[in-house]
Amino acid sequence: MNAMTSTPFRCTVTPNTGGRTDAERDAVLADPGFGRHFTDHMFLAEWTPETGWADARVVPYGPLSLDPATAVLHYAQEIFEGLKAYRHADDSVWCFRPEDNAERMQRSAHRLALPELPTDWFTGSIEALVAADAAWVPSGEETSLYLRPFMFASEAFLGVRPSQHVTYSVIASPAGAYFPGGLKPVDIWLSEEYSRAGAGGTGAAKCGGNYASSLLPQQEATRNGCQQVAFLDSVEHRWVEELGGMNLYFVQADGSIVTPELSGSILEGITRSSIITLAADLGHDVVERRVSIDEWRDGVADGTITEVFACGTAAVVTPVGRLKWDGGEAVSADGDAGKVTHEIRSALVDIQYGRAEDRHGWMTRVA
Ligand SMILES: *Cc1c(COP(=O)(O)O)cnc(C)c1O
Repeated sequence: MNAMTSTPFRCTVTPNTGGRTDAERDAVLADPGFGRHFTDHMFLAEWTPETGWADARVVPYGPLSLDPATAVLHYAQEIFEGLKAYRHADDSVWCFRPEDNAERMQRSAHRLALPELPTDWFTGSIEALVAADAAWVPSGEETSLYLRPFMFASEAFLGVRPSQHVTYSVIASPAGAYFPGGLKPVDIWLSEEYSRAGAGGTGAAKCGGNYASSLLPQQEATRNGCQQVAFLDSVEHRWVEELGGMNLYFVQADGSIVTPELSGSILEGITRSSIITLAADLGHDVVERRVSIDEWRDGVADGTITEVFACGTAAVVTPVGRLKWDGGEAVSADGDAGKVTHEIRSALVDIQYGRAEDRHGWMTRVA
C-alpha cells in the first residue's frame, strides 16, 4: 500500500463562479470563529492501485456524494492533518513547516493502510488551494486560514480490507484569534477510566478514530467544568500522555521544560517539536521523558512545577489552569499564564506571523 506514485504534481483549477461576494466574505472574516465557515474552493485527488494518485484539482467547495457502502463510513479508514496559512504585514501568505505535515500524513497513512501521498503532492495541494482562496486569508492579529487536508477510504465495498479507492481532499476555514482577550488558562479533566490510545494502536497516527474515542471522556470533562481532557497510558494508568488534540509541557522551578516522551501512543505534534527547538534557543533545558500523574499533581502543589501548558496548531500554546479529577484538583495557574508560557508562545507566533527571523527555515511562502 505504500508505493508512492512518481507522477509529478499537476493541478487543474475550476473557479467557483457562484462564490461569495466580497461583502459576504468580509462579513465572515470580521468574525470567523473556528471551523464554522469554509472558503469557495476545495482540493480533490483520488488514488487507485492502477492509477496511483491522480486527477489533482481545485473545484468549487461543495458536498461530496458518497455511496452508503463507502468503506470509511463503516471501518473509519481515515486520516487528517491540520496547518495554517498566515498573512504577513506585506500581504504575503506563509505556511509553517508544511513538509512536516506531509511526512506525518505519510506515517499516518502507513498505519491506517492508506496510500502515502508524496510530499510534493501535499505541498502542491496546499499551494493550489491557498492560491485560489488567497482572499480568504484574514489579516487581523493572530488570525489565519486553517487548512484541513484529509484522506479516506472511498471504495463502495463492505469487505474488510484496505480500500482500493482513496480520496484526498483539502478544505480551508478562516480562523479568528483563539484567545481574543489574551491568554486564558484552561481547566483539564483527568480521565481515569478511559485511555486515548494503547500500545500498538493508532495513537501516533492522526486519524479520526482517535478523536471518536476521545469524545465520551471529553463529555465527562465538560460535565466537570473543564474544557479539555488529559489521558494517561493504557497499561499502568500512570504516565501522562496528552490531551485529546494537544501535547503537554511542564515548566520546572529550575527553568527546565519537560514534555512526555513519544511512547508510540502519543501524537508527535509539530508545535511540540518546534517548542523543543525554540525553548532551547531561549536557554531552557528541554527534557523528553516519562511524567507520572503523581509528579504533575505533587509538582504543582509543592512548586516543583511552576507552569503547565498544552500546544497544538489550532490554539498554539494554551496555559493550563487546573487539573481536576474525581475527588480533587491541583491549580497551576490562576487567571493568567506564566512567564515561560508567554515567552515560548511569543517566540513561536512571531516566526509564524513574520515578526521574527525564521532562523530554522520553517516558513514556506504559499501566496
Ligand atoms: C494534531 C494533534 C496534536 C498537535 O499536533 P500539531 O502538529 O502541533 O498541531 C496533538 N495531539 C493530537 C492527538 C493531535 O491529533
